[in-house]
Amino acid sequence: MLTTAPRGTKDIMPADVKAWRYLEETMRRICAQYGYKEIRTPVFEHTELFLRGIGETTDVVEKEMYTFTDRGNRSITLRPENTASAVRAYIEHKLYAEPAPTKLFYIGPMFRYDRPQAGRYRQFHQFGIEALGIQGPNIDAEIILLAVQILQSLGLKDLKLKINSVGCPKCRPLHREKLQAFFKPHFDELCKDCQSRYARNPLRLLDCKNPHCHELGDGAPSLEECLCDECREHFEGLKKLLTAAGIEYEIDHNLVRGLDYYTKTAFEIQYQPLGAQSAVCGGGRYDGLIEEVGGPATPGIGFAMGMERVLLALESQNLLPAEMESMDVFAVCPNQEYFPTVFKTVIDLRRAGLKAEFDFQGRSMKAQMKQANKVNARNVLIFGEDEFARGQVVLRNMATSEQKEIAITDIITNLQAEV
Ligand code: ATP
Ligand code: MG
Repeated sequence: MLTTAPRGTKDIMPADVKAWRYLEETMRRICAQYGYKEIRTPVFEHTELFLRGIGETTDVVEKEMYTFTDRGNRSITLRPENTASAVRAYIEHKLYAEPAPTKLFYIGPMFRYDRPQAGRYRQFHQFGIEALGIQGPNIDAEIILLAVQILQSLGLKDLKLKINSVGCPKCRPLHREKLQAFFKPHFDELCKDCQSRYARNPLRLLDCKNPHCHELGDGAPSLEECLCDECREHFEGLKKLLTAAGIEYEIDHNLVRGLDYYTKTAFEIQYQPLGAQSAVCGGGRYDGLIEEVGGPATPGIGFAMGMERVLLALESQNLLPAEMESMDVFAVCPNQEYFPTVFKTVIDLRRAGLKAEFDFQGRSMKAQMKQANKVNARNVLIFGEDEFARGQVVLRNMATSEQKEIAITDIITNLQAEV
C-alpha cells in the first residue's frame, strides 16, 4: 500500500508530461485568442459552496465528493469541479462591477469518488471556461467554438457535438409534468436512483446511465416542444451561429442537466470510442447559479473538458507529439583531476542558456559516451588528457561524427554557433 498511489489516482511521469504540456499550451494559446483569462482557485472550498453550486440532488454531491472536517471543525471538500469556485471568486472579488463579459479559464485537478476505469479517475484534470454576465446566444456559440477549435487544432477527428436546450424555470414545469406522465406506466422498471429522481427531478431520468432506463426514455416528450418563446429564440440563435461558423452539430433532446439554475443551452462533445467515458467536454448555461451562490442575478455559461479523456483520444489517433528530449552538449571527463574545469565549463554553458550535462560518478569514458547517447546529446565535449595538457578539448558532433579540437576558452562561442 505504501508504494502504490491511492486507487483512482495516477502519477504523471516525466515521459507523459510532454503530452500534458502540449495540451495545456494549446488550451492557453486558444484562450488567449478568444480573450479568456486564467483563474486559479483553491483546491478545496467550504462544502456548502458545492452543495449550493452543484446541487444536493446531483450524483456529484450525493456520492462523489471528498468531504472532511478540518482541525478547526469546518466541513471542507476537495473541489469536484471548478465552476462553483470560479463563481465564488467572481462574487468575492466583485468582478460583476466590471464591464461584462468576464471571461475566465482554468486548468487543474478535480476530485470525485468515481468508479475508476479508463478515462474515469478519482483525481482527474479539467480545462474549463466560464463566461459571466452575458445573456444572448452569441457567447454560447463563442465558447462552443472555443472548445471545438482546441480539439480540432490538436488534430482530433470523429468528434460529435451535441446540443440541446433545457429551457428555463418558466417552461420546465410543463415538461416536467409531461415527463412524469410518460414514465409513470414504467415506474416499477426504473432503477432505484431513477425512482427517486421521478418525483424530485424527472429531467434527470433522461440522463441515467442504466441501459434499461435509457431505453425507457426513448420517445420521451422533448423539452423543445415545451420551450417558451425566449428559450426557443435563444436556441434558434445558437443554431444559426453554429451553422454560420460551419460547425456540424446534432440536437440531442436527452442531453440534460437537471438543476433549476441550468438554463437554455446544454452541450457535449463526445468521442464515441471512449465508450461510457465518451464525454470529452460538457457545458451549458447557468443563469440561476450566481444568485444561488449569493451574488447578484447574473447570467453565465461554461464548460469543462476532461484532460485525461482528450489525451486518451489523442493517443488512440496517434496524435501525441513524438519529438524526443535532447541535450545540446554532454561533457565527457575521463580523468577526475580535470573535473573542476569540466564542472565550471558545464555551468558556464548553462549560464549561456545551453542544455548541458555531465557524468556524476567518474565512470569510464565508454560509460560516459553511452550516457551522452542516452540523453540524446547533440554534441559531446571530450576532455582527453593530451588535449587538456594543451588547453584544448575535442568537440564531436554526434549526428555527423565530425570532430575538431578547440581551445577550452572557446567552448561557449563554438557551441553557441553549433546549436
Ligand atoms: P460522466 O458522465 O462521464 O461522469 P460528468 O457528467 O460527471 O461526466 P462533468 O461534471 O460534466 O462530467 O465534467 C466535465 C468533463 O470532465 C466530462 O465531460 C469528462 O470529460 C470529465 N470528467 C468528469 N468526471 C471525470 C472523472 N472521474 N475522470 C476523468 N474525467 C472526468
Ligand atoms: Mg460523472
